[in-house]
Amino acid sequence: MKVSGKAVCRGLAALVLLCLVLYFLAGRWKYHSGAETDIPDDGLAVQAAAVLEGQYACLTFDDGPSENTAAILEILARYQAPATFFVTAQPINEPYLDQLPLIQAGENQIALHSASHRYADIYKSTTDFWLDIKQLRQVLSAWVDVEEIHWLRFPGGSTNTISHRYGGSGIMKELVAQAEEKGYHWIDWNVCAEDATSAHPDAAAILRNIQKDARGKEVCVVLMHDTAATGETVKALPAVLDWFSEQGYEFCTVEQMYTMTKAQ
Ligand SMILES: [Zn+2]
Repeated sequence: MKVSGKAVCRGLAALVLLCLVLYFLAGRWKYHSGAETDIPDDGLAVQAAAVLEGQYACLTFDDGPSENTAAILEILARYQAPATFFVTAQPINEPYLDQLPLIQAGENQIALHSASHRYADIYKSTTDFWLDIKQLRQVLSAWVDVEEIHWLRFPGGSTNTISHRYGGSGIMKELVAQAEEKGYHWIDWNVCAEDATSAHPDAAAILRNIQKDARGKEVCVVLMHDTAATGETVKALPAVLDWFSEQGYEFCTVEQMYTMTKAQ
């Protein structure tokens, strides 16, 4: 059989195209297989936006403290921008727990995230979840006044579906109800920096991700991370703070945003 050069070219072009499509799809899948939900609950931000005058940005940092915490605190202080830190107590956090009093000293808010942050453990049952939170409170109590801590953020967000694998499809609804019964306030986010995804965005991409999500929102609750792996978040932070300031936003903690909302 004689195959023309043209046919070979067409075949090769089709193969390259197929590879590109597969590569793109694999990238999308990988990107969206991150632990965080794609559809977080934005209820509090929406409520706040409905009643507050002006624009507010609540920067939030999950999964710290880490070797990057000191730099984040220094930048926040320079901009006089308070933020909220949803902390964990994993072995990797341990050498940096001495940052906790410094977080508080800077008018920032410390809130609960998880002790272990292991989905398979914390979402096995509601009992396991609250045991993990109890353990986190115990660790924190050596450093800060835990009686002052009333806020939490569920790992993966309140609408995450990864938890269904371990604790069944109703576990998040149960946990949300129990959190409220226990007197906790909880919050997800409505702006995602996507700084802890497997795409490993650089500082410029982190800023773009934030700008894209923040557009048109009067109140932004921005999800970022404070881990050893998120050095690019530190690099992006001054530009993020500059951009929100230029757009007319004021910075506040989640708790401050909530208190202002309730006062209306
Ligand atoms: Zn987390």
